[in-house]
Amino acid sequence: MQGSTTIRTELRTATDDTIDDALAHADPMVLRGWLYQLTGDEEVAAVPVAPFHAGVAEAMGLADRRDAGLLRAKAAAFLRAYRDAGAGELPIGPPERLRGSLGLAAGQEVPESELELWLEELALDPWARSLRWPEDPPPERLADFSVLVIGAGLGGLNAAVQLKRAGIPFTVVEKNPGVGGTWHENRYPGARVDTPSRAYTHLYGLGYEYAGPFCEQAENEKYFNWVADTFDLRRDISFDTEVLSAEWDEQGACWVVRVRDPEGERTLRPRAVISAVGFLSRPNVPEIPGADRFRGPAFHTARWPADLDLTGKRVAVIGSGCTSYQMVPELADLAGHVELYQRTPQWVFDRPGYRSRYPDQVAWLDRNLPWYANFLRFRTSWLTGPHVQSRAFDVDPEWTDPLSRSAMNARIRDGRLEFMRQKLGSRPDLLEQMLPPHPPMSARPVAVDAGYGIYDALLRADVTLVTEGIAGLTEHGIETVDGREHPADVVVYATGFRANDFLWPMEVRGRDGLRLADLWAEDGARAWVGTMLPAFPNLFLLYGPNTNPFSLGVVTFSEITTRFALERIADLVLGDRHSVAITPEAYRRYNRKLDEREVLRTWSDPRADNYYRNAHGRSASNCPFEGTEIWERLRHPDPTDLEVR
Ligand code: NAP
Repeated sequence: MQGSTTIRTELRTATDDTIDDALAHADPMVLRGWLYQLTGDEEVAAVPVAPFHAGVAEAMGLADRRDAGLLRAKAAAFLRAYRDAGAGELPIGPPERLRGSLGLAAGQEVPESELELWLEELALDPWARSLRWPEDPPPERLADFSVLVIGAGLGGLNAAVQLKRAGIPFTVVEKNPGVGGTWHENRYPGARVDTPSRAYTHLYGLGYEYAGPFCEQAENEKYFNWVADTFDLRRDISFDTEVLSAEWDEQGACWVVRVRDPEGERTLRPRAVISAVGFLSRPNVPEIPGADRFRGPAFHTARWPADLDLTGKRVAVIGSGCTSYQMVPELADLAGHVELYQRTPQWVFDRPGYRSRYPDQVAWLDRNLPWYANFLRFRTSWLTGPHVQSRAFDVDPEWTDPLSRSAMNARIRDGRLEFMRQKLGSRPDLLEQMLPPHPPMSARPVAVDAGYGIYDALLRADVTLVTEGIAGLTEHGIETVDGREHPADVVVYATGFRANDFLWPMEVRGRDGLRLADLWAEDGARAWVGTMLPAFPNLFLLYGPNTNPFSLGVVTFSEITTRFALERIADLVLGDRHSVAITPEAYRRYNRKLDEREVLRTWSDPRADNYYRNAHGRSASNCPFEGTEIWERLRHPDPTDLEVR
């Protein structure tokens, strides 16, 4: 971390060339905000910006790339002077300048109303999203309060970190033998994040050195192991332990939770439950005729066998979502032949450097430019937020072009078509087969490496795209509806997850035995701000209904929801109360607003039919609100929305 003795020594002995070499890898927009904060140099602030295309959206960058040289030269001069002065502790600079500095790094004004959120994202305070007890809790009441956290992935680990820090007794149960959740389970070749790793750490993980801009499975799992070890969480986690059922006991003011571990079944009685189970965790394996006849290995992508050797094998991949498109290019390198069985093609977004690792200079910058990593994290987060990425998911109600949903959506479509033509121009058959029937952003956009991705793989002689429907599996392969039998040694189900079965297969009952299925009978899973359910007291969901974010990231969502949960628990402890639940009226009001917003989001397009849509025709997974709105609702909840007993 900045300021430690090692780092000062490293910078103190750095040559001018080392500094210049490292700064060549710095993001000029980040330098713009960072330098201004530390120096107040108005020439830095005056460097002009202009819109450019960034990933799925349009962001602000330098208007003239040559200005990057000016910013780097100024940063080099600053760093040399800092080194020559001994490279000691360096304060962040005037707090009242921060809003302007963040705006310079963003290239857009940071609204005053959002400043607190963005300062949290800047991670100057790694514990900005921790519980702050308004007064000391009575020790006997605290000792009497226990929390059960379900899951030791991204959300559950953070809940454990924060509960431990707050001194609230807790235990974590995790069905797997290790931490990491989705990153423990998804070990298929090519599994990696497609949101930037920079913002895929908790606030206290700012100093964690990721290996690349979009890290692969092993690196992500390593980070979650780092969290577990750094905060000494392993002894608080029961591994190989699965929750079977949970029922609220009004009399005892606790949850009665049945769990199963290798020793058998047992009952826990926590006062509150934080569910940190992912909604993309239970494999969806379709019932395909003849599936049990197939003689070779057949498995879901989230159940990849550890010792599988694909050398020379013919591999059939069923499904064409993110997982499949991410995996097929890698499989092509490993197997003898790959056949991709595609029902619906998806829009593909090229990300330069998607499969790359960071050069050493990047980590050097993180270690040696005081506060630079904070500004880089902020900008990364800003680009995923309401002013940039979220705009790509807007529907313009006045828009009439049948192929797109807004002017920006039309530009995105044109860009994607151009990318397809660049890659597949020599194969009109593939161009046609890979053209999605729905507008971009109405289904999950798929990220690929700009240099080698799904389109490049499909051009290979050892990869075949099959678009005829699957009639069934045979002993030795797959039969398509045209009567052809395609030989296969291995069948991989890249068929996604039971995304609409929230908390499944747990049997959860609230007050008076109310089942989730009863609460959600009308049109599928819902919650208040994704986290609370009426008649299910002291239950907090971290990745609940309608929380899949398109405006800010999943780490941010889980951090702000965890803080909300701990604040409610603190209220109970301090007020000597038993339970808190959201009122039915607040739940209904929130969901009415949610439905109004939903139609203004691209994924409501009727042509897209995927896990975003449940059996009732609405999305129970995606969050149509801005991340800033979710933050506001959880930061300042209306006390009358909460029923405290
Ligand atoms: P998915 O998006 O749900 O895709 C499932 C695929 O299986 C679809 O192509 C679907 O076809 C096909 N399918 C389902 N049932 C079928 C059947 N009976 N016969 C033939 N095809 C069938 O699942 P996913 O690709 O695993 O992705 C799920 C989510 O995980 C992603 O949206 C994303 O949120 C996350 N993910 C993220 C990353 C990343 O960040 N890097 C990578 C992978 C996954 P239809 O479309 O025609 O229904």
